[in-house]
Amino acid sequence: MAQKLETMSKEERLERLRHSAAHIMAEAVLEMFPDAKLGIGPPIDTGFYYDFTLPRALTTDDLPVIEEKMRRRVESDVAFRHEEIAKDEARKLFAEQPYKLELIEDIPDEKVSLYRQGNFVDLCRGPHVERTGQVQAFKLMSVAGAYWRGHERNPMLQRIYGALFETEEELQSHLQQIEEAFRRDHRRLGRELDLFSFHEEYGPGLVYWRSTRSTGPGWSTGTLRAAACARSSRTSGGRSTIGPATSWCTRRTSAAPPCGRPAATWTSTRRACTRPWTWTGRTTTSNR
Ligand SMILES: [Zn+2]
Repeated sequence: MAQKLETMSKEERLERLRHSAAHIMAEAVLEMFPDAKLGIGPPIDTGFYYDFTLPRALTTDDLPVIEEKMRRRVESDVAFRHEEIAKDEARKLFAEQPYKLELIEDIPDEKVSLYRQGNFVDLCRGPHVERTGQVQAFKLMSVAGAYWRGHERNPMLQRIYGALFETEEELQSHLQQIEEAFRRDHRRLGRELDLFSFHEEYGPGLVYWRSTRSTGPGWSTGTLRAAACARSSRTSGGRSTIGPATSWCTRRTSAAPPCGRPAATWTSTRRACTRPWTWTGRTTTSNR
């Protein structure tokens, strides 16, 4: 007889709940898009995800709709049933699901393990909870792109992330933490307080500091020096923006940089700066 959820460790309970929620979500998405192609749907640290190829791009407006369909499946409280079938039979069963067919070919055994809930069936080793009704405290969070099997040469799938915890209180506390993290997000605060910013077009993840004085290194000298300060520009307000040495210069200009480096290397378009620039203590030369 199957082990009862209550007798398991919290870790195992959560893993089963999260993985089961992924199956319920796949069923809901398949109802919404009957042509959906299903990737994989594992449990993760705070919940679950499932990857899909869909006829259109999902937006966050789709998430409550999918979530509502999931809740209906939870209310119907159907059992998760485990089955094992021959590989050939599985190939027929998943004939319309190319990603599943690919996974079937990677299974070394002659038998293939499946889980069913209601009319939905997924290729899966499990384990799951006993019934859909046990999946309660969840919320769909976001949509992201994900390459099939994590490889950039493979198709890009749409990944829906969900959060799931054992109790509604735990879920709410997790959602609050996310909200707090957003409120304290340094990328947003840095921009809003005019301290620093990030610019994808000049190099993802690189910090552009704002000097608090119109001349001299100003704010956080040490950090600016450490960043080697390969780029600087002065705004009309007289404040400088300092970028890291690996940043890209996308603006063409005839002005020479403040360090005396030839304009040619300064103006190279979308090329990482290869020459170290010694900090001069002033960033007042405009590169516009
Ligand atoms: Zn599964």
